[in-house]
Amino acid sequence: MNVRMLSSQKEIYIKALEHKIKKCKRCSLAFTRRNPVVGEGNLDARIMFIGEAPGEQEDIQGKPFVGKSGQLLTKIIQAMGLSRDQVYIANILKCHPPGNRDPYPQEIENCLPYLFFQIEIINPEILVLLGRIAGIALFGPQFSITKMHGQILYFRGRKVIASFHPAYLLLNPKAKKLAWEDMKKVLTELNLPIPGKK
Ligand code: URA
Repeated sequence: MNVRMLSSQKEIYIKALEHKIKKCKRCSLAFTRRNPVVGEGNLDARIMFIGEAPGEQEDIQGKPFVGKSGQLLTKIIQAMGLSRDQVYIANILKCHPPGNRDPYPQEIENCLPYLFFQIEIINPEILVLLGRIAGIALFGPQFSITKMHGQILYFRGRKVIASFHPAYLLLNPKAKKLAWEDMKKVLTELNLPIPGKK
């Protein structure tokens, strides 16, 4: 696809996608989740953050990254000189896996077409993958977050930078420095100013 759409057209497509996801029964998560979490943010965002799957809080609220990890992601976005409503936030899986377990490969395979459609609608300049699972989902099982974070990668012709998942950063605060270096690369790629740099 990859056609330029007006925001009003994007809204129609996103609504249609939400409708389809609400009715989705491609896997058993549809029967255990409270609410699907499609994504949220600016439909004309230049950056799309992609996490793993909704957690408990996200499942309750139907919104991405609103729990503890979400609070850290919000801080990271703000440290980049941006706000949550300037970016778009989505996940690989649209439904919460019970007990916060890792998504099964089959669940990822079933759910990815929704994300691909979402990426085409939003049409961001850069995808920021948060964590190992998002990296593996797009680049395959050889993807290593420790080796590949901060590198400029391409997925279907679109620029990608992977970094650490906020949940990992909460457990390993020392890695925050590395994550910030990754985010500076994202800003540089978009010709955006790096806060604090003269
Ligand atoms: N972790 C994720 O990967 N996504 C969310 O939306 C929340 C927590």
